[in-house]
Amino acid sequence: MKLIRFGDRGSERPGILLDGDTRVDVSSFGADYDENFFSGDGLRSLNLWLHTNLESAPRVPHHLRWGSPICRPSKIVCIGLNFRDHARETQAPTPAEPVIFFKSTSSMTGPNDDVVIPKHAQKVDWEVELAVVIGKKAAYVAKENAFDFVAGYVLHNDYSERSFQLERGGQWVKGKSADTFAPIGPFLATTDEIPNPQQLDMWLTVNGECRQKSTTAEMMFDVATLLSYISQFMTLLPGDVISTGTPAGVGLGMRPPQYLKPGDTVELGIAGLGQARQRIVPWNG
Ligand code: ZN
Repeated sequence: MKLIRFGDRGSERPGILLDGDTRVDVSSFGADYDENFFSGDGLRSLNLWLHTNLESAPRVPHHLRWGSPICRPSKIVCIGLNFRDHARETQAPTPAEPVIFFKSTSSMTGPNDDVVIPKHAQKVDWEVELAVVIGKKAAYVAKENAFDFVAGYVLHNDYSERSFQLERGGQWVKGKSADTFAPIGPFLATTDEIPNPQQLDMWLTVNGECRQKSTTAEMMFDVATLLSYISQFMTLLPGDVISTGTPAGVGLGMRPPQYLKPGDTVELGIAGLGQARQRIVPWNG
């Protein structure tokens, strides 16, 4: 199943995506894709509901905005330097344990929304990433059981302001958390659609030029290891997001480094998880 949300920012409604790009409004199922939905076995209930209601459920008009396919979660946990080639390009040492950091949940936005360059920003960068959505409360999870706690997968662009992240002291969260810095979607693919999350091609272009082209097979710490690892330090709640790191090809790694400016267009995709497209716009406040 592919979960989507649609409509104006802040008043999105739940839907599903059928093959061939048809979006179906499932508002009358009566639940949005939030913590309660995932913890209450919502995926199974929705599937059952669709057996009898799919035909009669309204189709979503094409012009309606794509929202993030999940409601704002309790946390977005990101992994740094998780691809061998990316660790090399940033000249950072290969980490002995996963590097984890937070991204503010208020940075979440729809997959095709404009991305706003924050006030005083100079170095806005892109990062195509596989994000994992938690399906049930996870604490001290063994690696062997990790997939029992996954609801599905979603495409994420982990936008980063490198001067805020690296030149202002303290934690990376400063460079990761501006409004619109976490376009998520177009859809959440449930685990049955992605039998092996470690074999997915991923790519990103800026103004049509290839910047990132890799595969999730290049991860140093795989999805199961990451979920288990994070759950040793905090409880992951249903609907939470783990973003598993980006491959080589970010602007910071270019010689000389190259960052985004107003008018640029970023497009990205992961096999089985669709594509997204963001236009970069200036701060306007
Ligand atoms: Zn990242």
